[in-house]
Amino acid sequence: MMQLRTLPAQTVFFLGLCLSGRRGLASAPELKEQPKKIAVIGAGIGGTATAYFLRQEFGPTVKIDVFEAGTVGGRLATEKIGNAEYEIGGSVIHPLNLHMKHFVDRLGLSLRKDVPGKMAVFDGEQLIFEESDWFIVNFLRMLWRYGFNFIRMQMWVETLLDKFMRIYQYQQYGYSFSSVEKLFHAMGGDDFVLLANKTVGEVMVDAGFSQNFLNDIVIPINRVNYGQSVRINGFVGAVSLSAVDSGLWAVDNGNKRVCSGLLYHSKAELIPAQVTSITPKLRPIRSGKSGTVSVYEMNYIGESGSAHSLYDIVIIATPLHQDLSQIAFPGFSPPIPSYFPGRYQQIVTTLVHGVLNTSFLGVTTDSSQFWVSDILTKENKELIFNSLSSVDPVHIPDNYVHLPASVKKVWKLFSGQPLSEAQLGQVFLSWDTVRERKWLAYPKYSPPHQRPPFLLHDRLYYLNPIEWAASAMEMSALSAKNVALLAHHRWHGLESKIDQEDLRTRLRSEL
Ligand SMILES: Cc1cc2nc3c(=O)[nH]c(=O)nc-3n(C[C@H](O)[C@H](O)[C@H](O)COP(=O)(O)OP(=O)(O)OC[C@H]3O[C@@H](n4cnc5c(N)ncnc54)[C@H](O)[C@@H]3O)c2cc1C
Repeated sequence: MMQLRTLPAQTVFFLGLCLSGRRGLASAPELKEQPKKIAVIGAGIGGTATAYFLRQEFGPTVKIDVFEAGTVGGRLATEKIGNAEYEIGGSVIHPLNLHMKHFVDRLGLSLRKDVPGKMAVFDGEQLIFEESDWFIVNFLRMLWRYGFNFIRMQMWVETLLDKFMRIYQYQQYGYSFSSVEKLFHAMGGDDFVLLANKTVGEVMVDAGFSQNFLNDIVIPINRVNYGQSVRINGFVGAVSLSAVDSGLWAVDNGNKRVCSGLLYHSKAELIPAQVTSITPKLRPIRSGKSGTVSVYEMNYIGESGSAHSLYDIVIIATPLHQDLSQIAFPGFSPPIPSYFPGRYQQIVTTLVHGVLNTSFLGVTTDSSQFWVSDILTKENKELIFNSLSSVDPVHIPDNYVHLPASVKKVWKLFSGQPLSEAQLGQVFLSWDTVRERKWLAYPKYSPPHQRPPFLLHDRLYYLNPIEWAASAMEMSALSAKNVALLAHHRWHGLESKIDQEDLRTRLRSEL
């Protein structure tokens, strides 16, 4: 993904204060004993943020185990070329992603130094748009080609972003939601729910945007960010379009450091194992009294073979789709499926250390004069990639500068399928290193889509339904906070903090 804009500094400051400094207001009186053991499945940003927020909600005594079948970070990962590492999964973060910002501050991490780049759009034969170094030139070119579409798009996205930002205040006051629909309704009413159930193409055409603008600008942005076109839902479309302004950031030395930091900070135990099944069980009460309590038995396969453990609460922080997680749920009534409907979009990230063949892009000037860093593409079946970007390492050394295309450097391609040697030979004049990672990256959006609930069973929660509204690091973090609050409130019977209507008016009077 590439991304976005700036909000008024005082808004960010206020919300930042809210996130970090008003915990007391959100805390509820403890009504019953805390749970003894909680399991989180998945150590991506969603699972590790869940462990962090669970510790905040349930305090120091609960044992939190985080199961991870692969690598901590999940879809946040880096790959090494030469002496430097490069992001190959989730790479950029919006300036208003306040949970991510809070994590970085709290964990004492730093932001990567910003190296501004230039963008162009390729139609398969030539560059139809190339960003200039001069703001006024870009502005006039956009105005000439698309009238006021571009400015209207920015205003449209900003209006939606304003509504989205309400969630931070609700969460600070401890409110939680049992489904994506209820969460969206609280942020922006019926219109917001509808936005996530229509395609961004429909929404933008209804709002008067031109087809030309959708083809030349909106589709290329969606292709680089989500590997899809204007058939994605309106909300994820707005998230994608918010990527066009300045202020995007990444974590110095790699975004995945947030995940390992959150894990450490939450004092959770990392269990390197693949969870295979979860079953509801009854176990006798320990304190000598008669009776039973319901728990979940987790079966898993780790380094020393198969094992199982009992937990009071279980949180699934990995998509239950296709072959992504492979968890069975025997013994539940009503049954829980291993896979919910819907598919994930395959995206292949290819890093190439090489010299670009600028004539492939229809560029006729000398490649030593070609400084474009991000090449987006129009929809064209003949095209072998969705985007092509010159990428900076996760740590920017002193005196680092962008190089022109004539010099060997690291390029990142997103494509639907792996690229063959012959295809790489079209795009590059020469190369010495290639790294490839195949992802089931994010949902294949085709609204309207039935999203699973956050609550799968009495104390079994699921984080990733949020991805069907939009998949991004911040969305997983936001869902993690919601599920931690939900688990806490349901454990303590605090119904007044769940699925409340008209929160805006209520909070205005509370303030
Ligand atoms: C190529 C690419 C580019 C992207 N670009 C951006 C971007 O620029 N900005 C942005 O905000 N977002 C971006 N995203 C999206 C973002 O990376 C994801 O939305 C986010 O990382 C999802 O985090 P998660 O924790 O919910 O899931 P994951 O990161 O998928 O974590 C789930 C974890 O669960 C583990 N697991 C699965 N099954 C089991 C099991 N049975 N037992 C134990 N462990 C299990 C997996 O190994 C994995 O580590 C991008 C994603 C991709 C793939």
